[in-house]
Amino acid sequence: MVEQDWMTEVRALVGKEYGRVYAWDPVNAPMARQWCEVMGVAHPVHGGEGLVPPAMLQVWCMEGLHQNNYPPGSTKENPYEALQLIEAQGYGSVVAVNSELEFARYLREGEKLYYTTRLDAVGEEKTTGLGTGFFVTLVMTYFSQREDGDEQVGTLLFRVFKFRPASAPAPKVKRPMPGVSDDTRFFWEGARQGKLLIQCCKACASLRHPPGPVCPDCHSFEWDALEASGRATLYSFVVMHYPEVAPFDHPNPIGLVELEEGTRLVAQLVGVDPAKLEIGQQLEVEFQQFDGDLTLPQFRPAAA
Ligand code: ZN
Repeated sequence: MVEQDWMTEVRALVGKEYGRVYAWDPVNAPMARQWCEVMGVAHPVHGGEGLVPPAMLQVWCMEGLHQNNYPPGSTKENPYEALQLIEAQGYGSVVAVNSELEFARYLREGEKLYYTTRLDAVGEEKTTGLGTGFFVTLVMTYFSQREDGDEQVGTLLFRVFKFRPASAPAPKVKRPMPGVSDDTRFFWEGARQGKLLIQCCKACASLRHPPGPVCPDCHSFEWDALEASGRATLYSFVVMHYPEVAPFDHPNPIGLVELEEGTRLVAQLVGVDPAKLEIGQQLEVEFQQFDGDLTLPQFRPAAA
């Protein structure tokens, strides 16, 4: 694969040394003590007077609370320019992969540090579980300032993966399942068998929907189920445009449907142009199965 021009530009930076970033403060006991408290380690460590934990190496040259706030004399260069160039090509995500500290010796209170940065490597384009991108390795070298020549005291290798996230397939959203109770089970089981069952009072013969335990007309608890013909008219409707909620189609026409037996129910309208729905138009039921375990009655315009 031929690499793009922009990558040639990035690779030209490999090996580049970036200028010094100075420490705000000399190596000091208060910072060491607080660091030990936070990390839960004993202080003083290693028994030596004035010695500080080696793992604090990075701490001494940190910018502090405010981003890019480095002491006077520090470089104005951006040691992360390669990351910026890669990001500009759409590799917007980053994850730290390795951080390796090496120490040449213990540091002692009063030493004044700085570090320089080298862009060590930019890998070939790789595809990982996270996505496709580039491993970028930076090496920071830490020095202690001395009158007889600055002394290298440690290095920090820092490797990141700068990547374009893998686009995960959108999870399949199922239709919400109805809450099924002893009062409504007959309706959903009927639908599964392709029957539109309507509750009918045994005492006064009035129909009711949605199902309930008591007849609202005569208060009888006795009921039966009547199989409706499925022929109906459109009593009213709404067309849902927003919000667009999966898995429903949009716009989503929903009808209040009057069955020829005389009761009404709410159902999705199918096979219709939402702009051409008309109150009173003739409809007929059909049953559609969703997600393998849900059957819903829906209504479409009646065949002429
Ligand atoms: Zn009744």
